Amino acid sequence: MLEEYFRETNEKKLLYQANKIAGSIQKENYLIDESKSAIFEKELEEKSKEESIRILVVDNKGIVVNDSNKTEIGKTYLVPEVVVALDGKDEANLRKEEGVVYASAYIENENSEKIGVVLLISSFDDVNNLIYEISQKWLLITIGISIIIGLIVFFTTQIFIGPLKNILRIIQRITEGQLHQRILIKGHNEFSQLGTAFNNMTEKLETVESSRQEFVSNVSHELKTPLSSIKVLSESILLQSDMPIEMYKEFLQDISSEIDRMTNIINDLLSLVKLDHKEAGLNIKETDINKMAEEILKRLYPLAEKKNIELFYESNKNMIIDADEVKLSLAISNLVENGIKYTPNNGMVKLIVDGDHQNCFISVQDTGIGINEEEQGKIFNRFYRVDKTRDRETGGTGLGLAITHSAVLLHNGSIKVISKENNGATFVVRLPIKYAE
Ligand code: ADP
Repeated sequence: MLEEYFRETNEKKLLYQANKIAGSIQKENYLIDESKSAIFEKELEEKSKEESIRILVVDNKGIVVNDSNKTEIGKTYLVPEVVVALDGKDEANLRKEEGVVYASAYIENENSEKIGVVLLISSFDDVNNLIYEISQKWLLITIGISIIIGLIVFFTTQIFIGPLKNILRIIQRITEGQLHQRILIKGHNEFSQLGTAFNNMTEKLETVESSRQEFVSNVSHELKTPLSSIKVLSESILLQSDMPIEMYKEFLQDISSEIDRMTNIINDLLSLVKLDHKEAGLNIKETDINKMAEEILKRLYPLAEKKNIELFYESNKNMIIDADEVKLSLAISNLVENGIKYTPNNGMVKLIVDGDHQNCFISVQDTGIGINEEEQGKIFNRFYRVDKTRDRETGGTGLGLAITHSAVLLHNGSIKVISKENNGATFVVRLPIKYAE
């Protein structure tokens, strides 16, 4: 680009000078008037020195009339620029291999006949040298800048890659099962934030993993107990050769109730698994909460009657909620069943439906054994039972409240317990309402 630019300006400048000289030769009549040849020669010499260019004047036959270098006078000098100029066209050309620029301009007489040509030859070496110097410097600057950019990129990537490699190493260890691994947090930047988020996630993973293990061991334990009983009972039958038929029946009755217990546990586990499938498995419909409560109570009256427990129902507000009827009904039933289960004979269980403009509250109150404060935080855990021996008698699986809790959460609600030991218990379920009637 630079060469092109210099070439063009040089050619234009030289062409302009050639035209100027041709004009003055024409004006002063130097080519025709021989008496002026000495002045003509001197002027050309001065001009040549002044501009550091060689000036040749060629007549219309191509013979050199004047040469500032004096070497070509009288010789034929028909370079293409001269030929073209004699034809009436001024021209300037760079001759790269010679390192010079040629520019020609024709001289006319009064009748506009071409009587000669002014040919200027100027060195292009200076420009070539300049371009060479610039390109050399440019090359050095480019190499320098590239090295600096390279170093900056190298060091900045090192700064980023270091912590990333560390995170990657920890991820690999966690993938191998070492869930206790944590990222060391240094400073306060995006990496430390990423590390903190990652550590929180790993902590959650660890909790999930340990609760999964606990759950599996609980399930195994819960199923093992009735199985061992069945084993003992059946072996007793086998060992006794002449057992009375009544005894047989009694043992088989025990085996049957152990099987019922296992069936209960498995059914409850299946309910929990279904609830674990989250929103996808929900069959949401507009549900009249009072109607649902009445139906639950109707189903459970016989159970309460067996213990001579009075079942009360109080409805303070009519509300419609969005609910999966089967799952929510199971959740509330569990609470009422627990009320009956953990209230001694001749007690009372009350179901109250109330609400405000946003939520409905379903409370299940009983006059039973209550739950001490320490246990209240644990009763929603799977397989948690306050009194294991009593629960074996009542047939509890320890999964009822876990099922209720999951179902309530799936309906965007919450559950809490208010109780004192030996002073009854109240479970309150809060659910968002769709509209009140
Ligand atoms: P279970 O099948 O043993 O009843 P739940 O998950 O329903 O299991 O309840 C967990 C434990 O919470 C019970 O074992 C019982 O000790 C306690 N509990 C639940 N409801 C009541 C209640 N209404 N009164 C007293 N204790 C309760």
